[in-house]
Amino acid sequence: MLEIQELEVAYGSITALHRISLFVAAGKIITLVGSNGAGKSTTLRAISGLIRARHGKIIFEGEEITNRAPHRIVGMGITQVPEGRMIFSNLTVLENLQMGAYRRREREEIKRDYDYMFAFFPRLKEREKQVAGTLSGGEQQMLAIARGLMARPKILALDEPSLGLSPTLVSEIFRLVTALRSRGIAVLLSEQNARQSLAIADRAYVLENGRITLSGRSADILGAEGIAEKYLGIGQAVGDRTSVRQRAMSERLGQILQGDGVFTPSGAPTRQIGR
Ligand code: ATP
Repeated sequence: MLEIQELEVAYGSITALHRISLFVAAGKIITLVGSNGAGKSTTLRAISGLIRARHGKIIFEGEEITNRAPHRIVGMGITQVPEGRMIFSNLTVLENLQMGAYRRREREEIKRDYDYMFAFFPRLKEREKQVAGTLSGGEQQMLAIARGLMARPKILALDEPSLGLSPTLVSEIFRLVTALRSRGIAVLLSEQNARQSLAIADRAYVLENGRITLSGRSADILGAEGIAEKYLGIGQAVGDRTSVRQRAMSERLGQILQGDGVFTPSGAPTRQIGR
């Protein structure tokens, strides 16, 4: 669906991405994990046309979109929710959602989508007429995602959606991501929170200093001895009890988020893991 070939991006003399290649299949969750400054945001910005590629190609549904204008890329079905949310803080919650649908004309469908967003995020419904700048950080993140979804994307690119959120809210955001996949929307998830994003993703790419150093099925990466510790700073040395327990926790979390377990948005996943 979306293919990146040998993408190189630079900020002046600093090369932020060194010819990276990756693939996002339709209806899958692909996570891009890596620490601060690894190049995750740069990758997402390049896909959305917000920064120019110096080399390489970005191909979406068979068409090359490298360096195309951002609004055209949105029009084709790729929407990005940037890090830091970037909501319109002087507009109300509903007006922000309307902005997300600005390219669409089908009124009835748009109305149905508002209802869906409000059903999914009751907290936003309660604050429909509230100015977005007064929402909490978690509510702003939900609004940013809901606004992105109002464009009806085929791929939703989420840049660090868990940043600064409480564990309960992070679980809610990740639950939403898995729900999107079941609606057929592909999600490209950039995250520093490697453990949780690997637990819900189908495939993962590990970025280090602008290079992809590891990629594969998320389950394999989480399960492979030593890999999680070496690349992602998860757990301790192999064989260490903490490491084994943390891996089991990741798997359990994945099962819960994928529906094999009772989930309530009130923080149940964290409580269930220990049992
Ligand atoms: P973070 O989570 O901190 O945003 P990241 O993995 O998303 O990390 P990027 O923001 O893509 O990383 O940054 C990749 C590299 O590009 C870093 O070395 C960063 O300093 C550099 N960089 C990013 N934006 C700019 C910019 N506007 N001007 C110059 N250098 C930049």
